[in-house]
Amino acid sequence: MSENTLQSFNISRFQEDILDWYEKNKRDLPWRQDQDPYKVWVSEIMLQQTKVDTVIPYFYKFMDKYPTVYDLAEADEQDVLKTWEGLGYYSRARNLQSAVREVVEKYDGVVPNNPEELGSLKGVGSYTRGAILSIAYNQPEPAVDGNFMRVFSRILKVEEDISKAKVKKLFEDYMYEIISKEDPSSFNQAIMDLGATICTPKSPMCMFCPVQEHCRAYAEGIEEELPIKSKKKKQKVKRYVALLVRNEKGQVIIEQRPESGLLANLWQFPMVPVDNLELLHVENWVRKEYGVEIDLDEKRGNVKHVFSHLKWNLDVYAASTKQDVLENDRLRFVTIEELDEYPFPVSHQKMMDLLK
Ligand code: SF4
Repeated sequence: MSENTLQSFNISRFQEDILDWYEKNKRDLPWRQDQDPYKVWVSEIMLQQTKVDTVIPYFYKFMDKYPTVYDLAEADEQDVLKTWEGLGYYSRARNLQSAVREVVEKYDGVVPNNPEELGSLKGVGSYTRGAILSIAYNQPEPAVDGNFMRVFSRILKVEEDISKAKVKKLFEDYMYEIISKEDPSSFNQAIMDLGATICTPKSPMCMFCPVQEHCRAYAEGIEEELPIKSKKKKQKVKRYVALLVRNEKGQVIIEQRPESGLLANLWQFPMVPVDNLELLHVENWVRKEYGVEIDLDEKRGNVKHVFSHLKWNLDVYAASTKQDVLENDRLRFVTIEELDEYPFPVSHQKMMDLLK
């Protein structure tokens, strides 16, 4: 990118065109009913890595249970994780709750409206901070994420790798220039809508684009070649035998995951890593690690799950035990009905179907 990038870019006409389009075409989204900073915050956290259609029912459910920062601050973490169940990236929920607790304790329940205080809250990065300040508080702050960079890589014809931090920083610098100072709230939301509905990752619909005449990539016919983004590393595959262990009363064993790391504090069926372990040794491993005697039974199926940096490949086996009591604190016997009370990651929710 060069210093000349914004030269000959007609900022005021661009603002007019995009705001005009937004006024007539804005999406009717539940968090747009008012500009409540708490609602904007929750919606932006939910929308990270997640599509709008998926988020909407979760947003309603969340607001129903925790309509104010006070309700969320006081809630039990397991309850919050249960409400978030299926949405993925669970650290978002935990960070959100601890940040909201800080808002209650330090700021009398009012979401801060200045970049320093807001940005110091857990889980509030530069994008979320900019989104809250602009959408809820109408401050001309950039909210630059992957969608934003895709749209502006094309409009400004930026041919640099958007996965680099310094390129994101440059986009933020440009946005301070380009963002509407009169209506930054609508401006940022307009770009979000443009990226979601018209300037999409694949096959952007340039024919319907309200800012087509400003778009340098379109003028050169290279819109599908932008943005430039280095490929992510391939995810590592981890193989497990996941166990549906039942006792003679028909109860099943579940395990709480550790307090930190992937899927922290969520519940799952016991998983035995088998990258370097033969199936033959699974029973021994369970005895040593969990202190439970099991008899491995038939294979019930296979479940795969893709995280951002790794893939799980779970071979699901039924197993039985004669024990009724468990000595390991993180294990628990529950009935099939009680499974509903615990937050499980999606892969293990799928395993529940194999129980029946
Ligand atoms: S003209 Fe095409 S590439 Fe350019 S902003 Fe519009 S939709 Fe995106």
